Amino acid sequence: MTKDIYADVIVNISVDSLDKAYQYKIPDGIREKVKVGQAVMIPFGVSDRMIKGYVIRISDKPEYDVSRIKSISGLCKKTLDTSERMLQLAAFMKNRYQCTMNEAIKTVMPVKSKVKTVKKKSVVLKLDKEKARAVFLELNSKKNAAARARLLKCLIDSENGILDYNYIKNEENIGPSTFNSLERDGIIAVEAEDVFRNPKMDYGSWGRNVILNEKQQEIADDITGEYEKGIRREYLIHGITGSGKTEVYMAVMEKVIGLGYQVIVLIPEIALTYQTSGRFYKRFGGRVSILNSKMSAGERYDQYMRAKNGDVDVIIGPRSALFAPFERLGLIIIDEEHESGYVSETIPRYSAVCVAGELARLSGASLILGSATPSIETYYRTSEDYKGDKPVKLYRLDIRGGNSRLPNIHVADMREEFKNKNYSIISTGLRDAIGDRLRKNEQVMLFLNRRGFSGFISCRNCGEVVKCPHCDVSLTLHYGHNRKKLVCHYCGYERDMVTTCEKCGSKYIGTFGTGTQKIESMVKEMFPEARVLRMDADTTTGKDGYVNVLESFGAHEADILIGTQMIIKGHDFPLVTLVGIVAADMTLNMSDYRAAERTFQTLVQAAGRAGRGNRPGDVYIQTYNPDHYAVTASVKQDYGEFFNKEINYRRLLSYPPVSGIMSIMTASSKEAYAKKIIDDVARNTLLYFKGNDAAKVIGPAPHFLAKICDSYRFVLYVKCGDDKLLYRLRDMIVEYLDVMYEKKRFDVWIDVD
Ligand code: ADP
Ligand code: ZN
Ligand code: ZN
Repeated sequence: MTKDIYADVIVNISVDSLDKAYQYKIPDGIREKVKVGQAVMIPFGVSDRMIKGYVIRISDKPEYDVSRIKSISGLCKKTLDTSERMLQLAAFMKNRYQCTMNEAIKTVMPVKSKVKTVKKKSVVLKLDKEKARAVFLELNSKKNAAARARLLKCLIDSENGILDYNYIKNEENIGPSTFNSLERDGIIAVEAEDVFRNPKMDYGSWGRNVILNEKQQEIADDITGEYEKGIRREYLIHGITGSGKTEVYMAVMEKVIGLGYQVIVLIPEIALTYQTSGRFYKRFGGRVSILNSKMSAGERYDQYMRAKNGDVDVIIGPRSALFAPFERLGLIIIDEEHESGYVSETIPRYSAVCVAGELARLSGASLILGSATPSIETYYRTSEDYKGDKPVKLYRLDIRGGNSRLPNIHVADMREEFKNKNYSIISTGLRDAIGDRLRKNEQVMLFLNRRGFSGFISCRNCGEVVKCPHCDVSLTLHYGHNRKKLVCHYCGYERDMVTTCEKCGSKYIGTFGTGTQKIESMVKEMFPEARVLRMDADTTTGKDGYVNVLESFGAHEADILIGTQMIIKGHDFPLVTLVGIVAADMTLNMSDYRAAERTFQTLVQAAGRAGRGNRPGDVYIQTYNPDHYAVTASVKQDYGEFFNKEINYRRLLSYPPVSGIMSIMTASSKEAYAKKIIDDVARNTLLYFKGNDAAKVIGPAPHFLAKICDSYRFVLYVKCGDDKLLYRLRDMIVEYLDVMYEKKRFDVWIDVD
């Protein structure tokens, strides 16, 4: 008798209390088929209801009394299997992001279920046309053979005796029995083949093969040289927009593919469909595939299977394309690595840059990050100060690849405009420039920095923003029980709403808000003859919404494009010679320590949109903070200057990446209970860090949304230079709360970084 074997199965239920593996016996009939990563059906709980699960380990040792171990019911046919590597990655994510294993597995499987493959059916004539004609004449003289005769006639008349099944069926009104009968007699055959549903692709006008310039070649050679030596690591290509980073990626990819490996290229969702992917198609042809959320389930499944079967070498897509099922993954590229879209908004809230690092490590692949404005976190890892693991090798590309030039950047001080009685949101300089472009029949982009409408308070006369005296982030307006108050999201500091500016005494003070619609109507009023397009979440619903707007603008069907973040992401419009950044410092006032970073990135990226063709471009930055280093550095397009100032600021206030930061939030319907728990956590945290001066504990304080749906929330922040200490503390807190408090009566969220 063969020995029994057992599988540890993760059940498909995302509940903390079930977040562990359950052991099941593998029945003899499917022993060969059950591998790690296999989706199976299992009886679960007292009622033995059937649910789905994934096998994560196989062994021959039962962990319980054998008589109590249930058996797997069978393989789950509709669900795709995953691989051992993806399960390891899921385990990393579970650990890192505090989600359940089931949530992590769902994330690493962007395509979970099988979608019926589309078959293309054809009808093929099996006789030569001479014989077929004889059969036709015979059928034609019979009484009940009209349909068969019709079908045969069509085949005889066709060029090569093959017709599309569906076409002929509908067009000639021919039923299945007719096909069957002729097939039985050996006169025709109905043949089916799989067709892959390929997403609509615009090959565009790309494809001229570029000869790398000296600097580009140097970088490509260095990376491929290391690659051939077996070195795998992380690289950052810091290159201004248009400096040819994509050309370098493609050169390295060519080499890596030549060595028999596969490549994943992540680009921001918004940059995907329009132009970028076309370049990759032109270079690598049909061995390239795309995965994104705009594709239909069938399209996604087909591309996923092509990747799994090894039919493609390159997968391009946003964040989730990271989980393409490649067996020979050799390289991951993340373009515009600073993009906030690489951080998931749903649980687990993972960062694709971080997870890609782990996936590269697990797969023995290298990782290339690229950006004109690298995230402070990534850039810090290239610096000599950085002592942690995963250092990053830095390359620089400082000149534009083609012959386009960097634009002239002008700063419009909105405080001056206000003093000069221009109360509009468009400065005089920008208005004149728009008029000028309209006369020259050139195009204009007006960009509104929409993120950061978080209710901060500023003065329209001098631009002063009301900030927290402890945290240096803007205070947020809240409507309390019967009075307005200003609150700090970090430490809970509170004060009454102000009515006059503390700096200049002006009473023009309040929340600052403006939307794309408002700008649109204002622009139309100023320039009635201009053709204006607006692109934001409202105007771009539907599968191809934003593509249509961009295509229309690209075809010069409009003079002015107004939009939010979306319009500045990597699109090339040669006729755009003017970019106006309407409220440049909006993000500067976000109550987030990354405010300056976001602002700098946005300004540099937006400026990069002007003058990409042969005509020089102009950029107007409208701001209330012309002296802020995020603004001055972006005017000079000087990343180094910005980084140095910013990293000092982070060091001074112990913010990441210099210091790790952890937030702990408790919530309960009983205010006192939530408070008691957070106080307890705070006390223990202080004990944990006793004698460690590098750690700081801030709070506890009521959360900035102190009461939601009758649930009271409190937060505590912990800052510490050593991430590992924070992760250990997190695990200890989770365990402690589990033992000490009643799970049903409260919720807790812990977030590192
Ligand atoms: P990035 O990815 O850094 O924004 P791209 O690779 O998109 O830059 O390059 C911008 C433009 O310059 C593209 O049209 C590209 O084909 C062109 N380009 C880049 N490098 C060269 C080169 N060495 N010779 C000619 N054109 C180049
Ligand atoms: Zn003021
Ligand atoms: Zn504060």
